Amino acid sequence: MSARIIDGKAIAARVREEVAVEVQAFSERFGRAPGLATVLVGEYPGSAVYVAGKQRACREVGMVPFDRRLPANATFDQVAEELEDLNADDAVSGVLLQLPVPDHLDGPTLTSLIGPDKDVDGLTPVNAGLLSLGRPGLRPCTPCGVMELLSDAGAELEGAEAVVVGRSNLFGKPMAQLLLAENATVTVCHSRTRDLREVCARADILIAAVGRPRLIKGDFVKPGAVVIDVGMNRLTPEEAGNRSGLVGDVDFEAASEVARAITPVPGGVGPMTIAFLLRNTLQAARYHAELRSMFADLDRDSI
Ligand code: NAP
Repeated sequence: MSARIIDGKAIAARVREEVAVEVQAFSERFGRAPGLATVLVGEYPGSAVYVAGKQRACREVGMVPFDRRLPANATFDQVAEELEDLNADDAVSGVLLQLPVPDHLDGPTLTSLIGPDKDVDGLTPVNAGLLSLGRPGLRPCTPCGVMELLSDAGAELEGAEAVVVGRSNLFGKPMAQLLLAENATVTVCHSRTRDLREVCARADILIAAVGRPRLIKGDFVKPGAVVIDVGMNRLTPEEAGNRSGLVGDVDFEAASEVARAITPVPGGVGPMTIAFLLRNTLQAARYHAELRSMFADLDRDSI
């Protein structure tokens, strides 16, 4: 069998077009566009490029980007103050702290200072808790993107065996919660899982987010499964040979002989993350606008 390739680039472009149309309607109705603030501390390799990509994507859909940068030696209090300013700024609908932050800072604690109503990465304890309780909130972007890819692939989630390899707070745990909410039977694997191959081979939906090049071999994949490869591993030129230097956690060639549908790396999950960051920013902007109009009505009523 040769698997259908799930085209994340095309699906992300469609999501971004939908967001652009909705942003225009939002801006016409409320007289201003949603705003997305990125906070970058220092110059971790790649982070400036990621932030520039987010800023550009924001402009492309008609949102207003706010680009805040602090030096690598910024103190905890300086970063906290920046986040609190953005929390208080009505022009800013969403705030994200680009991770990782320099070693002397505590990334999770700083992230938790972002107002839950502006937490467009969905990583604060409040939003993680809401997800876990099955209540509305802002969800992490990459797992949301994967749900969209699964939907596009026509994956039947109800009652399906879903295996997520990786249990990070950023991806694996929220991914498992989203699948559970759709009534999949979910198993989460990690570095201490016994017989990873045997667990993966049960999966109708197999999702790998590990950060180990080609860990998931062809014989880990159940015939007819849908395989989503979240891993992004940069190979050295010697390792890469004549391929692209970026590979996933799945042995793509072998797995695509067995799977029904599979994401490539690059061009699978990667483009979905920014698309859902924009979607979350719009969601946050709508929430703020509704709150403001509710309070405006209250003010009028009290006159
Ligand atoms: P992470 O925080 O390093 O977590 C990796 C997870 O993999 C951990 O739960 C770890 O287990 C598990 N693991 C490590 N070795 C394993 C093994 N041999 N067998 C089974 N499980 C193993 O990583 P992350 O942030 O979730 O990211 C994972 C990958 O996804 C990375 O390549 C990252 O670049 C990529 N990613 C891509 C996007 C995107 O496309 N936009 C977004 C997020 C992540 P323990 O918990 O036991 O240590």
